[in-house]
Amino acid sequence: KPVLLWLRRDLRLSDHPALTAGLKAGGPVIPVFIHDETVAALGAAPKWRLGLGLEAFAKALEEKGSRLILRKGDALEQLRALVDETGAGAVHWSRLYDPDAIERDKAVKSALKEDGIDAQSHAGHLMFEPWTVETKDGGYYKVYTPMWRAVKDRDVAEPLKAPAKLNPPKDWPASDALDDWKMGAAMDRGAQICLPYQQVGEAAAQDRLAWFVDGPINDYGDARDKPAVDGTSCLSENLALGEISPAQCWHAGLRKLHEGSKGAEQWIKELVWREFAYHLLYHTPQIATRNWREKWDEFPWNENGDTDEVMAWKQGRTGIKFVDAAMREMYVTGRMHNRARMIVASYLTKHLMTHWRVGQAWFDAHLTDWDIASNALGWQWAAGCGPDATPYFRIFNPETQLEKFDKQGNYVRAWIVEGMKEPTESALSYFDAIPRSWNIGPDDPYPEPVVGLSEGRERALNAYQDRSF
Ligand code: FAD
Repeated sequence: KPVLLWLRRDLRLSDHPALTAGLKAGGPVIPVFIHDETVAALGAAPKWRLGLGLEAFAKALEEKGSRLILRKGDALEQLRALVDETGAGAVHWSRLYDPDAIERDKAVKSALKEDGIDAQSHAGHLMFEPWTVETKDGGYYKVYTPMWRAVKDRDVAEPLKAPAKLNPPKDWPASDALDDWKMGAAMDRGAQICLPYQQVGEAAAQDRLAWFVDGPINDYGDARDKPAVDGTSCLSENLALGEISPAQCWHAGLRKLHEGSKGAEQWIKELVWREFAYHLLYHTPQIATRNWREKWDEFPWNENGDTDEVMAWKQGRTGIKFVDAAMREMYVTGRMHNRARMIVASYLTKHLMTHWRVGQAWFDAHLTDWDIASNALGWQWAAGCGPDATPYFRIFNPETQLEKFDKQGNYVRAWIVEGMKEPTESALSYFDAIPRSWNIGPDDPYPEPVVGLSEGRERALNAYQDRSF
């Protein structure tokens, strides 16, 4: 009997336990992606990037004589319809760990089982599934470092090779056309500008990993803080869609560590931050929607995403160069350097005293590496209300950060036009990417700070102290 391989965030052929298990079952394998409500709910940039990922993955399947069947609608209804149409006896998929996916997948599994279908979920999106890591007293980790200690010496299974053959069926069920899904509809004209910055598909991800471990990983400890240096793996977009597996990254990093590479341990540690984010999301799903520390509900956050100050933040016009460069970088590329994410998040939640959810929502819409767990943890970390967080009173100064991490001014030159004698192409492209309705252009003067750095800092500290957190 045929086997349905239900794909979600695992758009790869290598190190894919669900695919391997599906093939082992013996029958022809039918890869399926369902555009259900979780896909409909994605922000503009991640949805567009998912469309690119699906296109690349469909091609990779076709090169091996297989196909990607696309269906739209409720996941269970579509799977049942496909079972009826193909006579499939089993459905395999890779587990996800966010609350909506868990609820959906549980319901799908029990309904399919009741129908007499062999429904099986598999690991693959994480190395350390949340329930496999426990504190000494049987709880979950709320702080990163002890979690790192708990997993760092674990054996992570060697990545599985891509199967030589995909065992396609003779007859294929009908499929939607990807173009009809219009995955880029909300990207407007920014999509063409954003496209060259994407690293789409399994082959591109593997090339990038090979490039990274072949050199940049050695200087990672230092380079990872410099936003103008191409010194990090940039694999987050691939990890988010499963175009590469965390275990493939882990083993590549580990090999370098054993060769004595200094930066390798630091890089592997970052992979565990991703695991930690999912660990927390699984054990405390509210991390994605509410202040993790409830006492922060009393804090006088601004929750309005449309104030002049917040609009200036969104549009990269706060008058603070590090913040503006970073916000423009994200608008053009769909990415933002990690240090820059920390700076803009700190500035929004502290200098502008705006709720982290406002920033989270903007990132949800604009990051092509959007990841529900890392984004939520990153925001709660920066805002000071998360489980493992920077204290609210520790307020990054974007100007001294810039002096420290962008000494030559390359990051600012890459993204700021105003006041530059010879603006760079990337900086100018921001004005082609943004909507006309913003009514701003490269000839405008560089804005005055919407809030002075010391004034914003004082305001935030006073509000914080008033409530004696
Ligand atoms: P590298 O430095 O090469 O690290 C390797 C991998 O480790 C990354 O690809 C990523 O999967 C993981 N990683 C690295 N740093 C972190 C971290 N701090 N937290 C969790 N995982 C990490 N990351 C996302 O993937 N998606 C998001 O939506 C996201 N939102 C963020 C929001 C805020 C406010 C902050 C402060 C951080 C956010 N991060 C997010 C984490 C981090 O900024 C990115 O993972 C990183 O910049 C990706 O670049 P890279 O692939 O070159 O990472």
